[in-house]
Amino acid sequence: MVSGPFDVCVSGSGAVAMSLALSLSAEGWRVAWARGAAPAPSRPDVRTYALNARAIALLDRLRVWPSLKAFSTPVADMAIKGDGDGHLTFSSWSQHVSELAWIVDAAHLERLLAEALRYAPRVDIVAPLQGNTPPVPAHLLAICEGKHSDTRSALGIHFDRRDYGHAGVAARLRASHPHHGLARQWFRSPDILALLPFHDPEPGSSYGLVWSVPHDRARTLQAMPPAEFEAALNQALRESDPVAAEQVGTLVLASEVASWPLALAQASRWSGPGWVLLGDAAHQVHPLAGQGLNLGLADVDTLVSVLRQARTTEPWRHAGDERTLARYVRQRQWPAMAMSTLTDGLLRLFADDRAPLKVARNAGMRAVERLGPLKHWLVGRALDA
Ligand SMILES: Cc1cc2nc3c(=O)[nH]c(=O)nc-3n(C[C@H](O)[C@H](O)[C@H](O)COP(=O)(O)OP(=O)(O)OC[C@H]3O[C@@H](n4cnc5c(N)ncnc54)[C@H](O)[C@@H]3O)c2cc1C
Repeated sequence: MVSGPFDVCVSGSGAVAMSLALSLSAEGWRVAWARGAAPAPSRPDVRTYALNARAIALLDRLRVWPSLKAFSTPVADMAIKGDGDGHLTFSSWSQHVSELAWIVDAAHLERLLAEALRYAPRVDIVAPLQGNTPPVPAHLLAICEGKHSDTRSALGIHFDRRDYGHAGVAARLRASHPHHGLARQWFRSPDILALLPFHDPEPGSSYGLVWSVPHDRARTLQAMPPAEFEAALNQALRESDPVAAEQVGTLVLASEVASWPLALAQASRWSGPGWVLLGDAAHQVHPLAGQGLNLGLADVDTLVSVLRQARTTEPWRHAGDERTLARYVRQRQWPAMAMSTLTDGLLRLFADDRAPLKVARNAGMRAVERLGPLKHWLVGRALDA
């Protein structure tokens, strides 16, 4: 039942919108959740996400993590290989953390958030927005509608988007050998292949696949019968890294194969009087560093903390106050920009096939591998996007 007035209207139906609505409710704000039409039954989301320590801490506070953890896999080590002799290795042990990341099931995460929202106090489900007008009066409109946000367009906010010409091909895999919690990634120029250790369907020897390939290749891979896809994948692995291919063993499909177009994007403005952007509606990054949702959940964490602080120190300001929202933007724009620059820089570096660049990038990887403090710094940034 809808009973205003509301502090915040949250528009969107993904993990960022649901985490925000839950967080605001836990802080005592009145929330109108414009979750859009009930999603039509579609194909299951086969993605696994690598979530960092900050994202896990937020999900823990929202009481979603204890249930999700039982179905998630900790990453103990990470091995990244260039297209020559460059390589980088990270281990939780040498970085003094209990794990580098957790691998979670994307669909399961969304289901648990939706379930938690059913019991959250002070949250009313309201009709979707018409243009940029919330269906109920609210001081703040939080736009968490993902990369194709109509409300962002209706507000006239430019979304500076560059298509990578690649798609992220995802699937679940079963391997013939155990993964030992090791996440692996190969920069194969032009594609990037990643295997994220997971427990499902086979505990200890399953993976989430993320394979970034040019659109044509993605279409071909998706159209292949399973046996042909598996042959192409196992061959790519052997070509990239015969030693790792031996350790991983033979990979077979354990789900259907899906793909997502990949782009780099940033909104030209993130906030204004009475509105704010979060998650992919504000920024989109390549999944090579597994940071898109981590950034979105850090947006949620920061916005809620800025609103909490403003309510304590400046109680006369309402949730949509432009100066308060500007504090959120100041804290979040730089980390999002830094992550975009890092992932985009790596992609450009590995997209160029000229021999001197190939030698230089692999030498660069070897140099970083030897620099303990730099590796430590990189892990710190990844854990706290
Ligand atoms: C292959 C791949 C692998 C990835 N791996 C990782 C990873 O390992 N780690 C990581 O952190 N990130 C990863 N990401 C990124 C991650 O998927 C996104 O960053 C994240 O889903 C963004 O969440 P969001 O809630 O902002 O947007 P979305 O997930 O896009 O959700 C927004 C939702 O709102 C709905 N919506 C739109 N308009 C309206 C409206 N007007 N009213 C109501 N609802 C609306 C949309 O339909 C959508 O369902 C990956 C992405 C890809 C493509």
